[in-house]
Amino acid sequence: MKKLALHWQILIGMAAGILFALLMTNFSWGNDLISDWIKPFGNIFINLLKLIAVPLILASLIKGISDLKDISKLSKMGLRTIVTYILTTIVAVSIGLAVVNVFQPGKSITQDTQKELVKNYSTDAELTRQSAQEQKERGPLQALEDLVPDNIFGAASKNSNMLQVIFFAIFFGIGMILIPEKQAKPIKDFFDGLNEVILKMIDLIMLGAPYGVFALLAALVVEAPSADLFVALLYYAACVVGGLLLMIIFYMMIVWIFTKKSPQYFLKGISPAQLLAFSTSSSAATLPVTMERVEEHLGVNRQVSSFVLPIGATINMDGTSLYQAVAAVFIAQAFGMDLDFATQLGIISTATLASIGSAAVPGAGMVMLVIVLGQAGIPEAGLALIFAVDRPLDMVRTTVNVTGDASVSMLVAKSQNKLSGPQVKNWDDEYKNRELENRNEK
Ligand code: ASP
Repeated sequence: MKKLALHWQILIGMAAGILFALLMTNFSWGNDLISDWIKPFGNIFINLLKLIAVPLILASLIKGISDLKDISKLSKMGLRTIVTYILTTIVAVSIGLAVVNVFQPGKSITQDTQKELVKNYSTDAELTRQSAQEQKERGPLQALEDLVPDNIFGAASKNSNMLQVIFFAIFFGIGMILIPEKQAKPIKDFFDGLNEVILKMIDLIMLGAPYGVFALLAALVVEAPSADLFVALLYYAACVVGGLLLMIIFYMMIVWIFTKKSPQYFLKGISPAQLLAFSTSSSAATLPVTMERVEEHLGVNRQVSSFVLPIGATINMDGTSLYQAVAAVFIAQAFGMDLDFATQLGIISTATLASIGSAAVPGAGMVMLVIVLGQAGIPEAGLALIFAVDRPLDMVRTTVNVTGDASVSMLVAKSQNKLSGPQVKNWDDEYKNRELENRNEK
C-alpha cells in the first residue's frame, strides 16, 4: 500500500488530537489525563526539534557559505535576502492595515464585553507589558551589540541566541573561504557530514510528527479559555486570519511570477512545514523541517536555503507584523480612538521593526506588540482585550512566517540560478551509491 503523504498524516494527527480532547472534556478526569499523560509527548516532540536547531544552523550555514567560495557572492545574496525580507514585511503590514480599516472589527465591541475582557486578562497583560518594558529600556544599538557573542559555547547553549549563532557561522564560513582550499577541506568535509547526519535526524523526528501534533493540539483544546469570550473576539480574529490568508496568496503569486512554479507545487512542497508551524507556534522549532522541505521538495539549492532560512526564521515574520498592525488598530478602535494617516504610517515602520525583533517562539509577537502600541499612543491595557484569542492567531501567523521564509528562499535561489526541481533523496539508493564510490576509491 502506498504510504500516506506526510501532510495528510500530520493533518489526521491534528484532527484526532482535537477530537480526542473534546471527548475527554466530558469526563472529570479528562483534562488531567491530557495534561499529565499526553501533553508531555507534545513537549518532547518540540524539544527534539529545538534540540537540532543550533547544530543545524552551524553545520548548514558554515557549509553553505564556504561552498560560495567567494565573498562577493555572499554579500550579493545577503543584500537580496534582506531587501526581499523587508519588502514582504511591508506588504504584510499594509495588508493588515487595509483589512482592519475596511472591516473595523474594534467598533463592534460593546462596552460590557470590553470591561469583561480587560478584567479577565489584566494579569496576563501586565506580565506581557513588563517583558516589553525590559525590551524598551535597552539602548538604540543594543540589538547590534547583542548580535556579537563573547563566547560561542555560551551563545550555542541557548536557542534564543539564534542570531549570535548565525553571526558566528557566517564569520567562520568567511574565514574558511579566505584560507587555501586544501586546508579548508577537512573542516568542510566535517561540516558536510554533520549536515547529512542532522538532516537524517530530522527525517527520524518527523516520523513522530503525527503523534507529536496529536499531543500538542489535545493539550491546547483542554487549556483553551471560555467559549463566550471567543465569540466576542471572533470578528477581530477573522480579520487577522483573512489578512494572513491574503498573505499566503501573495506568496503563491510572487513565487509563480518570479520562479514559474505553480501554487500547487509550492503548497505541496511546503505544507508539512506549515502544519508543523501551526501546531508548534514556533518558527524556530519548525526551521529544521522548513529547510528540509525547501531543499528536497522545492528545489532550492542548499547554499541558498542554509543562508536565507535561518536568518528568515529569526528576522522575517510577516505573519507577526500583519497581526501586530491589525491588533494595534483593533485596540484603538475598541477604545474609540481614530488613528490618523501619519500614525498608521508609523505603525508600518514600528510593526516591521517589532516583527524583526520578535523571537521565533510562541507568543513573542504579542510581547513586541506593546512597542507598536506605545509608539502609536494606544493604551497598552488593550492587550487584555486580545489575550483570549492570541494562541490560535499565533498558530496561523507562525504558519505565515514560515511560508514567507520559504517563498523568499525560492526567489533568492531563482535570482542566483540555484533553483531546480525536487531533490527528494532515496536514502537506500544514496547509501548504495556511496558504498560504490568508496569501493571505487579503494
Ligand atoms: N510564534 C511566532 C513565531 O515563532 C512569533 C509570534 O509570536 O508572532 O514565528
